[in-house]
Order: sequence, then C-alpha cells, then structure tokens
Amino acid sequence: MGSRARIVVFAPSEAVAVDAARLAFDEMDRLNLVLSDYTPASEAMRLCAAPIGAPHRVSPDLFDVVLKSARVHEASGGAFDPTLGALTGLWRESFRSGRLPDPQRLTDARARAGFRLIDVDERLSTIELLAPGVRFDFGAIGKGYAADAALQVLSRHGLRRAMVDLGGDLALGDAPPGEAGWRIEATDDRGGARALQLSNVGVATSGDAYRSVTIDGVQYSHILDPRTGVGLRSSSAVTVIASNAWLADALASAASVLGPEGEGGLRSEWPGAEIVWHARRAG
Ligand code: AMP
Ligand code: MG
Repeated sequence: MGSRARIVVFAPSEAVAVDAARLAFDEMDRLNLVLSDYTPASEAMRLCAAPIGAPHRVSPDLFDVVLKSARVHEASGGAFDPTLGALTGLWRESFRSGRLPDPQRLTDARARAGFRLIDVDERLSTIELLAPGVRFDFGAIGKGYAADAALQVLSRHGLRRAMVDLGGDLALGDAPPGEAGWRIEATDDRGGARALQLSNVGVATSGDAYRSVTIDGVQYSHILDPRTGVGLRSSSAVTVIASNAWLADALASAASVLGPEGEGGLRSEWPGAEIVWHARRAG
C-alpha cells in the first residue's frame, strides 16, 4: 500500500518478539496483495480487470473491507468512496507532472467512479462490477485494516502489549509495562502537536499536510471530493481515535472531505469515535 510499517512489541524474549513480528509483517504483506491498487496482481485489481456483468466471489478480507467501506460511504453521505480509483489514478499523474488532469479524461474517470457501479451480494459474498473501467482504491481504509490484522496476529501469539504503525495509521494493543497507554503525538500541518496516551484503540490522521500538489497557486489534496472528482482545496488535518484502526483510518479520510461542519453523520453512526480537528485554512 505504498507505506512503511513498524511494530513495537513487549515480549518475554527477543526471539519471541522477532518470530511474532515476522508473522505480523507477513499478514500485512498478505493484505497488501488483497487490497493494494499499486500492484496489478492484487485481488482488488484483478477483480477490476475481470469481466463485468457477472458476480465474482471474493476473499473474506476483500468482502469485509467492501462492506466496512459501504457503511462509511453511507454514513458520510458518499464523501468516503473507495470506487474512486479511476480518478485517484488520474490525480496521481497530476502529482507527478504538476499539471491539472485533462478535462475530458476527468469527465471520463468520473463516469467510472461511484458505489452505484458495484453490486454487493451479502448472502453470496459476491461483488459485481456494473460498468467497465471501475477501479477500487482502498487507500483510505486499507492501511488501518491491515494494522488491525497485524495487531491480532501479535495478540494470538500472546503479545498483547503491542503497537502497529502502518504509514501513520496506528493499531494499539495493551499499554507498555508500567504505562497508562502508548504515548502518541498527533501533529498538525502548522507544527502544532497534541499529546495522547492510549491503548486498545486505533488512531489515524488524514490531511494534506502529508500529500498535496500546488498547481497555478492552488493546493490540491490527495483526498478527492467525490462530488467533483477534484482534490480538496482546503487545508485540513484531522485525527480520529476509534475502536479499531480501520475505522479511525476511514473516518479520518471521510471527515477530511466533510469538514468540521459536515462530520455530524459520522459522530451519530459511531458515537464512541473521537474526531479531533487541527488547524484548518479555508482554500
Ligand atoms: P488517507 O491518507 O487515509 O486519508 O487516504 C487517502 C487516500 O485514499 C488517497 O491517497 C486516495 O488513494 C484515496 N482517496 C482519495 N479520496 C478519497 C475519498 N473521498 N474516499 C475514499 N478514498 C479516497
Ligand atoms: Mg484514511
């Protein structure tokens, strides 16, 4: 998923730590091959290349991520949308070239994005693509999902005092010995920081502090507004603390699109999640 992964674990011996960490890294590699849109060989990308108009049975992980995504899609009024791959692919080119996407190609990519273009059958665990050229992009949920899975592997090996950091999305287990929690610093794009001490939660931060491109004086985020297909133009950073890393990851991305004024739907669907806004500058 184009990110670095880091594991911190407290174990009775180094050998135990290394063995369990290796299995946890393997789990993240496995999920990378399910979810990533950086590799054409991933299950998600193979599904997108499969014939349209027929339901395809997918792995439990891919199906689970699609269902979780659908829930966030719904609660966010469509602001969170993992079917934007055709658009995010176009914007990745713009990030490299420093030029805006060609308007015709943008129109074409918009027509190939949207949850209405996939059909999910919960009874049969199948997914059907209803139009050619639809592409998944699980970039806003997959890292959190994989971090959760890696933490579960460590826990199954008896290592509960553990932390998995996948590209800044954190899955936290029990606190380090003698501590109230893992000490986390959530930083915003102006050098501000908020100190947190947490355990058994997921934490994720989204915002264009991390990835954006400036074209003709306008700053565009790597997070797109699905209504326009264009990168967000306002600068924001939001940290979410939730029961799991997948949820924190997805909610942070969804909240980035909705802004502090619009994220109420997320709060009512997940009242236990904490959404913390950093500095925001109108664009
Ligand atoms: P994150 O860093 O978790 O906020 O995820 C951002 C990534 O998710 C982007 O780099 C895109 O690959 C993808 N993405 C962009 N816009 C959206 C959106 N509105 N909904 C879902 N995923 C998105
Ligand atoms: Mg996210």
